[in-house]
Amino acid sequence: MSTIVKAHWDSKLPIYEISHLKLQNEGIKSLLIDVDGTLLSRQSNVIPKNVKNWIKESKKMFSMYLISNNPSDGRIRRIANELDIRYKSNALKPRKKITLEVISEMNEDSQNIAIIGDRIFTDIVVGNRCNIQTILVKRLSRKGLPIKLNLTLILEKLISIFLI
Ligand SMILES: [Mg+2]
Repeated sequence: MSTIVKAHWDSKLPIYEISHLKLQNEGIKSLLIDVDGTLLSRQSNVIPKNVKNWIKESKKMFSMYLISNNPSDGRIRRIANELDIRYKSNALKPRKKITLEVISEMNEDSQNIAIIGDRIFTDIVVGNRCNIQTILVKRLSRKGLPIKLNLTLILEKLISIFLI
């Protein structure tokens, strides 16, 4: 398997179960966070309560940025405003340009920055290409619960095996 598709931490957890302490112990100071699937379902406009609480706690310890491939700036802006976090929509992950802009805005050593997302071929690949830490989390359903059978991820992992 190519290292470009390998998450530093394949957590198998929804984002709201990621330990803040573990992130701090890994030296992480800044978080770039994917939106659709990671913070809430793409089919939902409601940020789950436990996600909101996790974000609230995170803000005490980390500098945060939302980075979404969704071209709908209105949707991502509403979510970012509700959480009071800076954001980029239409980020074109796994292309590096916008992610690198965000990284330079964070003003932090790259090894102290992590990207958290639910997809390998966008979130994990762009993080690895930008030399930051990469954390794969479970995709959230419309009810805000981790999806048990995530076909996208199964397919991405299958394809990853055959990448050189
Ligand atoms: Mg996503």
